[in-house]
Amino acid sequence: MTVTRIAPSPTGDPHVGTAYMSLFDYVFAKQQGGTFILRIEDTDQKRYRPEAEARLYEALRWLGLEPDESPEKGGPNAPYRQSERRALYARYAEQLLAEGKAYRAFETPEELEAIRLELQAKGLGHGYDGRARALSKEESDRRAAAGEPFAVRLVTPDEGETVVRDLLRGEVRIPNREVPDAVLLKSDGLPTYHLAVVVDDHLMGVTHAVRGEEWLPTAPIHVLLYRAFGWPEPVWVHMPVLKNAAGKKLSKRKDDTNLESYRRQGILPEAFLNYLATMGWSMPDGREFFTLEEMIAHFSFERVSLGGSIFDPKRLR
Ligand code: GLU
Repeated sequence: MTVTRIAPSPTGDPHVGTAYMSLFDYVFAKQQGGTFILRIEDTDQKRYRPEAEARLYEALRWLGLEPDESPEKGGPNAPYRQSERRALYARYAEQLLAEGKAYRAFETPEELEAIRLELQAKGLGHGYDGRARALSKEESDRRAAAGEPFAVRLVTPDEGETVVRDLLRGEVRIPNREVPDAVLLKSDGLPTYHLAVVVDDHLMGVTHAVRGEEWLPTAPIHVLLYRAFGWPEPVWVHMPVLKNAAGKKLSKRKDDTNLESYRRQGILPEAFLNYLATMGWSMPDGREFFTLEEMIAHFSFERVSLGGSIFDPKRLR
């Protein structure tokens, strides 16, 4: 069965980009008779805003894009808030450690900064060179037992390349020397996005990871993690991001990206959805005005355009 999901972080106002991704996730899941999940990625405690989640539900309800499973609604894959799934991530990180597919790295923030600068001076961009791989198991165990803080990092191959098979873009090949030994668990014991997204998508049975193209550069980390666990990958679908009238990625600071502001302006949800749909997709018969039901009936990823469309609120009025 088809399972899609959105995984927003509750860091502020409900965002136009979240509505845009939700629309495609929702439409595809409904067309396939599948399930659309809302999962809350709230592991970044510094950026967390407690009111953001409720406002997100409200915005999705306004648009008629209600998830089948969510923290609010519950469902067989609960809990849906990543902050409530910590023990789970720690267990999977432990598994990779025990199998030698991940390692503990004890560098302090100051040491990491010095390493980053050292690598930068050599023209190496990704900030960490895997030096803690060299620690013996005994030493690593001893330091951990002594209570020294550490991060858990994934062992990434130094040679070769990782292929992300994207439904819209074909095979995207990334040289492994550009893929860092990503942090999976931070020194506070919380997972990074990379570990959480892979564990959750797997456990929740997500078949299609439909998300913005800004996640394509980190997709190799996810592919390598699926491989490390021996799990089948979902189908990757990196959608073009919305751009502003200046042709740049929509930004919270410069553009009106708050969904509530469109609602307050009296824009009809049907019109808003129709406009969002045409940003990334076109009807086979070229019609510009269509309902959500019509989109569900005619949707296919083949008709998604990769250019990245201009989201111009003036056209909504
Ligand atoms: N938390 C990410 C976001 O805010 C989710 C990315 C993904 O879908 O994998 O967009």
